[in-house]
Amino acid sequence: MKTLVLLPFQLHLKQPAFQRLEDEDVILLIEDLSFYRTHPFHKKRIVALMSAFRHHEKTLKALGFNVRFEQGDTKEILEGLSPDELLWIEATDADIKAWQASITDELNIPAFFSQDAQFILSEDDVKKRLPKRPYKMDPFYREMRKDFSVLMDGKKPYGGAWSFDKENRKKLPKNTNIPDPAWPEIDEMTRDVMALVDEAFANHPGTTEGFRQPVTHAEAEALASHFFDARLKTFGPYQDALTTQYKDVSHSMVSQALNTGLLDPMDLIRRAEKTLDAGVPINSVEGFIRQIIGWREYIRGIYLHEMPGYHDHNHYQHTRNLPHYYWDGDTKMNCLKDATNHVIDDGYAHHIQRLMVLGNFANLAGVDPKQVNDWFLEMFVDSHDWVVTPNVIGMALHADGGLMATKPYISSGSYIHKMGDYCDHCHYDVKKKTGPDACPFNALYWNFIDRHQETLAKNPRMGIPLSVFKKMDSDQVVELRKQAETILEHLESL
Ligand SMILES: Cc1cc2nc3c(=O)[nH]c(=O)nc-3n(C[C@H](O)[C@H](O)[C@H](O)COP(=O)(O)OP(=O)(O)OC[C@H]3O[C@@H](n4cnc5c(N)ncnc54)[C@H](O)[C@@H]3O)c2cc1C
Ligand code: SF4
Repeated sequence: MKTLVLLPFQLHLKQPAFQRLEDEDVILLIEDLSFYRTHPFHKKRIVALMSAFRHHEKTLKALGFNVRFEQGDTKEILEGLSPDELLWIEATDADIKAWQASITDELNIPAFFSQDAQFILSEDDVKKRLPKRPYKMDPFYREMRKDFSVLMDGKKPYGGAWSFDKENRKKLPKNTNIPDPAWPEIDEMTRDVMALVDEAFANHPGTTEGFRQPVTHAEAEALASHFFDARLKTFGPYQDALTTQYKDVSHSMVSQALNTGLLDPMDLIRRAEKTLDAGVPINSVEGFIRQIIGWREYIRGIYLHEMPGYHDHNHYQHTRNLPHYYWDGDTKMNCLKDATNHVIDDGYAHHIQRLMVLGNFANLAGVDPKQVNDWFLEMFVDSHDWVVTPNVIGMALHADGGLMATKPYISSGSYIHKMGDYCDHCHYDVKKKTGPDACPFNALYWNFIDRHQETLAKNPRMGIPLSVFKKMDSDQVVELRKQAETILEHLESL
């Protein structure tokens, strides 16, 4: 008898491993609480994974599989069952992959590892498509479009361009109507899990209250369908918008479901393509498709190439601690207050909040990249090491020195002001660089350029800010240095 051991993020219904199962073989789902204790994960992340896993037992049974659901320690349960052959779906996260391998070794049972259907490319294929450092997203994305015939007009990109990003950098106009995402109703099974998490994970951050993620394929499907019907059309133009009008702007909110296997990436891409017939603009359709066939696969490829060791990069030698407001949201900086509270409440913030508010500030403040990476891993419902680490170490902090992003994504308050309305209601003044009420992002930004002049001079994409800094008169530079020093001394009380 073969036993396929599924993990809580391996819920895709077309797993290649299913092909190896015969009638008497078993799919084993083990609710092993130690799996959720490797880090102090946000309570909503635990509820999402645990509830989806419990629901999956029902789904697989309804499909006719021979399913067994157990609670306890994975190794002990496997020892007790003593299968003839173990089947695993190989995890992408390096620590989980190592754990699968060590259990297999210790049990000394023949084992077979298969690919996870939640990705478009196999591990080998994605690695081959990123042949050398520094990795480049654009050629990767174009090849993916061509090879999978996505948004193609013969050999040319549909609409005449590979990217329509220039049309996708708009601030959200006041009174724009964006329907809320179609969050599912919470059922009895999820309520039970929420009670369990409240008790067994009481000291973990966040709350189970207000849990909103899909936990079945049908719920994830409803969330995605509603996005295509009602929200995709505004996804493109307001993709980078920062606003207090809508928590989630027009983002699809599918990341957690995709990373758990409740949704299929290629299916989402094909459905996005079809919305062109319904009049959804190409800049929205292409923008969304690029995130999935481009960024999501690219990020995984980098992780696979760069592990082990990707967590250890610290290009700018940053050592400060992450300030308390990343955990309690208590800060006078309105942009950070909004983003951190969204994370604390929902285990979610959209991409530009993650990159240009949360990541940008941590980088400007010189926070140790490991602490930032851990925070992103622990606090988000959609987090997994394979997606967090390249996004944090590579994209947000540029701590890998440019292996995946051509320049650091740093900005002063002016970018945040340009992209939204946070600064209109802030204790600090975005127009000021110095003084007690000056926006902290401003002096910290110029201080970053100042401190890292030598390194940044090697990067042609940093030429403009460097030359602006060099043209500043010496009094201004002294003032900015003093201001940055004061801010960093009082980092915990901003
Ligand atoms: C610092 C930082 C941390 C991040 N941590 C995570 C994380 O833990 N889990 C996660 O899934 N994504 C992460 N991302 C990528 C991205 O921010 C999220 O995928 C996105 O915000 C999820 O919301 P959404 O589903 O509404 O995405 P949308 O904006 O609607 O995009 C659609 C989908 O594209 C994919 N996608 C878009 N950008 C990326 C990217 N840079 N990397 C990988 N996939 C991408 C996701 O699957 C996403 O669901 C992170 C980005 C940054 C800068
Ligand atoms: S003024 Fe500065 S701190 Fe305040 S919201 Fe704007 S960017 Fe953020």
